[in-house]
Amino acid sequence: MLGRSLRPASLLRSIPLPRSFQLRLFGAFTLVLLIVGGGLYMVQSQAARRMAIADGAATQFAYGQFIEHAFEFAKVNGDPWNEVREVLTHVSAQSGFHEALVISASGVVVAATAAAEEGTEHRGSAAALVLSTGEPAFAVKVYGGHEAFEYLSRIRLGGEWYVFEVELEPVLLTNQLDDFRRTFLLALALSFGLAFPLLYLLGGRTLASQFRAAEDQSTLDGLTGLNNHRSFLEALDQEVARAHRFGPRFTLALVDIDDFKFVNDSRGHQGGDDVLVRLAAVLRTGRSVDRAFRIGGDEFALIMPDTGLDDAVEPVERFRLAALRRMGGPTISVGLAESDPTDTNAAELRERADKALYEAKRRGRNGVVKFTEIDASTPMDTSVATMTAVRHLLTSRQMGAAFQPIWNLDTQRVIGYEGLARPAEESGLAGPQEAFSGAARLGRIDELDALCRESVLARVTDLPDDVLLFLNIASEVFDHGGEAAQRIRHEVEAAGLHPARVVIELTEHTSDRMHLVIPQVQELRDLGFPIALDGVGSGDGGLALLGRVRPDYVKVGREVVHSARDGGSGRAVLAAIVAYATESGAGVIIEGIEMEDMLHLVRGAEAGTKRARFVGAQGYLLGRPDTDPPWQSATDMTWPLPRTGPAPSPRSI
Ligand code: GH3
Ligand code: MG
Repeated sequence: MLGRSLRPASLLRSIPLPRSFQLRLFGAFTLVLLIVGGGLYMVQSQAARRMAIADGAATQFAYGQFIEHAFEFAKVNGDPWNEVREVLTHVSAQSGFHEALVISASGVVVAATAAAEEGTEHRGSAAALVLSTGEPAFAVKVYGGHEAFEYLSRIRLGGEWYVFEVELEPVLLTNQLDDFRRTFLLALALSFGLAFPLLYLLGGRTLASQFRAAEDQSTLDGLTGLNNHRSFLEALDQEVARAHRFGPRFTLALVDIDDFKFVNDSRGHQGGDDVLVRLAAVLRTGRSVDRAFRIGGDEFALIMPDTGLDDAVEPVERFRLAALRRMGGPTISVGLAESDPTDTNAAELRERADKALYEAKRRGRNGVVKFTEIDASTPMDTSVATMTAVRHLLTSRQMGAAFQPIWNLDTQRVIGYEGLARPAEESGLAGPQEAFSGAARLGRIDELDALCRESVLARVTDLPDDVLLFLNIASEVFDHGGEAAQRIRHEVEAAGLHPARVVIELTEHTSDRMHLVIPQVQELRDLGFPIALDGVGSGDGGLALLGRVRPDYVKVGREVVHSARDGGSGRAVLAAIVAYATESGAGVIIEGIEMEDMLHLVRGAEAGTKRARFVGAQGYLLGRPDTDPPWQSATDMTWPLPRTGPAPSPRSI
């Protein structure tokens, strides 16, 4: 079997082809002409040769008979052998004939055109064979590069058998082949002479320029003219393979414009594009061996061959300052990572540079960070493996969902379910938290959140009409302009639910992007979605957000209940939240209820105040998240604990 590298296809691919379209066309054309012409020449020359050999044989046979007749005739009137010599001389005088002779049965030349040969012993065994079998023979001889055909046949002279031998040069054949070769070369020259002007007239030039443009488009970024993401991946793979085999280290710099969305917002998209072009121009001013790429919206990469990490810092710092001047305000962050000879694929190096870039952003942007710095100073909780798993999760979409019931403590009826997305076990991720931390490092929270919503919404098509769905939304979803609310509405409606039945849960981490989130929350509310604020009381931001978001439900983090149970400040926080909810008309949902005494505590928090609109709870005590819940309507689902007294009359939620 042929080895992989010897297969014709891979062999063809390994031939370095010229890049120019015309040259390739010219090459293909020449090759076709040579193959077709060469084939034709071979077939034609073989046919002509066969004909020439047959012609020669016929002529020789005719002369043989002529000699027999001449001999018989001369026997009566003169010297028959002299007559034979006359005929031989006549034969050898013909064009192309070299020699003609008659050999006796004992192998002696008895008559020849060259008289000196007469009486000599004839060489070769062919004559004896012809004599014994009576069959004519043919052989090809080569003299100084020229071919000669040798024919032998048996003749009968004076009652004895002899061999008549003729040697002739196929002059006609040689001339024919020469002519054919000349014609072929002339045709080749004419074809070239005509084909190219014809191709030009039939639009070949446009075709060539279109080919060039298509080739450029596949490797170049249309806006900046830098090499694009595709060529970056190829170049990085090559460079990593080179470093792996031969050892020279190189540095990868990932460059990202800081707050580019703001640049777009303030200068307009055109202004944003202009900034991208200016940054590309700066990155082009590096050493000739450095290669710059635009690998995403505002993300660029530089491959710096034969450059260690420390040597890369200075030129990259220069780029940063030059970019600052040239872009007139916007800044860049850069993450640097050096190749390691043990790297077997480019992804690992890229993850390291990505981490360094993330760290540069985390440190406040407008800076250069080497991967080795973070390694030493900030132990990263998100490993390369996690980020790889998240990338994979986003493409494989192996996401499941579980649903945990939320109860109304007064009516002891279920009011809804919180949808909790869970990465599938095969994803290698321990849970949603790990997935979100990986996605945060990759800047892909938006995508992960969309995947979570998709997997939750895919399973609620038969949710009973009288229960709600609590749907978590990461605040990063609101980072990308004003379409998030509409997108969510579209998804919810596609799942067959009305927005009024889907409570959008925002986490208190939302507070650091308040300016982006508030308008979108208002839009969600206008579209009919109830809003819940999750994890209130667990961090710093939640209470501040309460006033701004004015949620329909306040979800109290489990830490608060735990702290209240242990006699800590949680009791006061809980009372404050319940008091707030009572004033604002929001419902309160306490999370993390694991013991019965926690339930009492929750009820106690209401004592002495006006009752909140509704107090609800969720937790292991009241129902674990179930991946395949037997959906039951609020009236069918039974309270999992012994009832603590007559269930009060249901109040509306
Ligand atoms: P950060 O400092 O964290 O990088 O914040 P950022 O605002 O720069 O965030 P990010 O890098 O994620 O934003 C990239 C933005 O670039 C998002 C997109 O609107 C914008 N963008 C992507 N491609 C183009 C483009 O070709 N032209 C313009 N003008 N903007 C683009
Ligand atoms: Mg950016």
